[in-house]
Amino acid sequence: MNAHAMTDLADKILAGDRRSLARGITMVESARADHRAQATELLDRLAGAGRQALRIGLSGTPGVGKSTFIESFGMMLTAQGLRVAVLAVDPSSARSGGSILGDKTRMERLSRDPNAFIRPSPSQAHLGGVARRTREAVALCEAAGFDVVLIETVGVGQSETLVAEMTDLFILLMAPAGGDELQGVKRGIMEMADMILVNKADGDLKPAAMRTVADYAGALRLLRKRAQDPEGFPKALPVSALEEQGLIKAWDEMKTLADWRREHGHFTSRRAAQARHWFETEVREGLLARLHNDPAIRRRMGELGAAVAAGEVAPAAAATEMLRLLGAGGPE
Ligand code: GDP
Repeated sequence: MNAHAMTDLADKILAGDRRSLARGITMVESARADHRAQATELLDRLAGAGRQALRIGLSGTPGVGKSTFIESFGMMLTAQGLRVAVLAVDPSSARSGGSILGDKTRMERLSRDPNAFIRPSPSQAHLGGVARRTREAVALCEAAGFDVVLIETVGVGQSETLVAEMTDLFILLMAPAGGDELQGVKRGIMEMADMILVNKADGDLKPAAMRTVADYAGALRLLRKRAQDPEGFPKALPVSALEEQGLIKAWDEMKTLADWRREHGHFTSRRAAQARHWFETEVREGLLARLHNDPAIRRRMGELGAAVAAGEVAPAAAATEMLRLLGAGGPE
């Protein structure tokens, strides 16, 4: 892609052109070295726009109603004149080869809404790759002027942590629980949550949903109050994605929390800490990738490993040589 085409693509994304946005995301998702270089340049050009969306992470186990919720919640936001982008971090997509998240057929109404943009998770070999590409896709959506970027993930493994680390608000979507069990929610995940929404608070399930809300509200009160939260947060609230109940209330609470954090500096400091974290992750992963992928470095690693094993070279001296080869210096 020449300089002119790059400028054209950047301009169209800034103008909110969805096809160009999709092209930009395809570029950041590519593993090819030349695409990577172009993606970096594109992101660099767009960073200057300084546009900011509210980034909301949404996690929940399969069947809890994520896609139903995103569709209803997204339609409610676009009805308020907001532009909404939906992205997905899907750790299972690498195995299945396709994504079960962010699937347009699951959000048929929203995908037809001109103020919404839905992008399924890329299939990547490892979660780190998906994470980086999702962060970059978020940046592109922000440059394209979206007001809200929703990032959907399934509640398994590390994906929740990754999504919490790239969003301003992290929301857990839960189902009504039978009895008083808290569905085995891990304490760590409760601590990450900025809000718990108990879905399916309708029909026969409503009483159970209300009890579950009370249980979570109690559990959240037991967690230490966080400096980044105003009094009364994090909250647990009932919603019905199917009957479109409680969505405006949930959105109002999200705005209250985000506004409070903005006023108290926590919004900016959280983003700053996230940016620093991703920068450091990227450096570490880049070094590791070279260690694993660069043929000359792999060869020398093998030779030095054998020499260390044979007692011919001290481990520290061999490590120093490897770090120099990686351009990472090492102790002088
Ligand atoms: P996901 O796997 O988390 O994306 O869940 P889906 O959105 O596909 O929903 C799973 C099932 O729960 C579907 O049969 C939905 O119709 C149903 N469902 C989703 N939201 C609600 C709700 O608010 N109330 C009720 N009663 N059912 C719901």
